[in-house]
Amino acid sequence: MDQRNYLTVSPEISIVIPVYNEALNLPLLFERLCAVVDKMARPAEIVFTNDGSKDNSLDLLKGFVAQRPDLIRVIEFDRNYGQHMAVMAGLETARGEIVVTLDADLQNPPEEIPKLIAEIDKGHDVVGSFRLDRQDSMWRTLPSRIVNVVRERITGIKMRDQGCMLRAYRHPIVRVIVESGETSTFIPALAQYYAESPSEVEVVHAARHAGVSNYNLYRLLRLNFDLMTGFSLVPLQVFTMVGMAVSGASVLLVVYLLLRRIFVGPEAEGIFTLFAILFFLLGVVITGLGIVGEYIGRIYQQVRARARFRIRAIHERPAPK
Ligand code: UDP
Ligand code: MG
Repeated sequence: MDQRNYLTVSPEISIVIPVYNEALNLPLLFERLCAVVDKMARPAEIVFTNDGSKDNSLDLLKGFVAQRPDLIRVIEFDRNYGQHMAVMAGLETARGEIVVTLDADLQNPPEEIPKLIAEIDKGHDVVGSFRLDRQDSMWRTLPSRIVNVVRERITGIKMRDQGCMLRAYRHPIVRVIVESGETSTFIPALAQYYAESPSEVEVVHAARHAGVSNYNLYRLLRLNFDLMTGFSLVPLQVFTMVGMAVSGASVLLVVYLLLRRIFVGPEAEGIFTLFAILFFLLGVVITGLGIVGEYIGRIYQQVRARARFRIRAIHERPAPK
């Protein structure tokens, strides 16, 4: 294989890929990526972050470094910190003027990378993508679609497809994302927030090559709470407004009961109606407390200012002397 000695030159393009238990996908991904990058013939690097995989992903990745030291660098986390922190670490170390993020499961075909780069070359600083024909199960796509709409309403961040991680950013955008210092964040939204000239392209979507999604319903919910709370105070404001509406309604109720007491007489029935109303209000209060808690928890995480992740090692070719 020809070694183009790219890493002695500063790469123009960095491809950042989070990896969590993807051993079955990595060999094919590596092969297809190399083909794409070599064809582009622009100085490039591929940065994998091993997010505490429990399978032999790390060994495979180290093998890639040995095979293509001109191209591959591997960041090794000491444990699992989640997809967005894995991407964050990749962005932190990426040296390219253009940075592309990609999933490791081959749902985003590497062959689409040149399309994104072409869009960046047109002068855009953030290029997102949307999946035309999404290859996921119904229970995975339907919630996504609902969440997409709710998110756009609440946060005002326009992304046609928030779940698609195949995206390209210019270096200044990457810098502000990294410097934001955010821990529970959603990188495409952050990029969109800072973008001056965003654009989106259409990409094909494949079914997961092997293995199963790392997101269950709980993790998906958590991720979406990150997105909502991280980019909007609307949930809190809605809660305040509900509170005000309920107070207003209860004033009316009091007036009604007072008049009734005067003109009709005392009442002792309707106790279960009262329970129903009470339970409803209790539900509203607990939900509100939960929403407040979501924010406070994130404030707490952020003010502790713990390291977002710990890198155990970076595997790459030693710097030339
Ligand atoms: N991933 C990760 N850390 C995690 C979960 C996922 O680095 O804790 C990576 C995973 O290896 C893949 C990408 O994030 O490259 C997307 O994960 P997955 O395909 O499971 O999510 P989905 O496509 O179902 O949203
Ligand atoms: Mg996937």
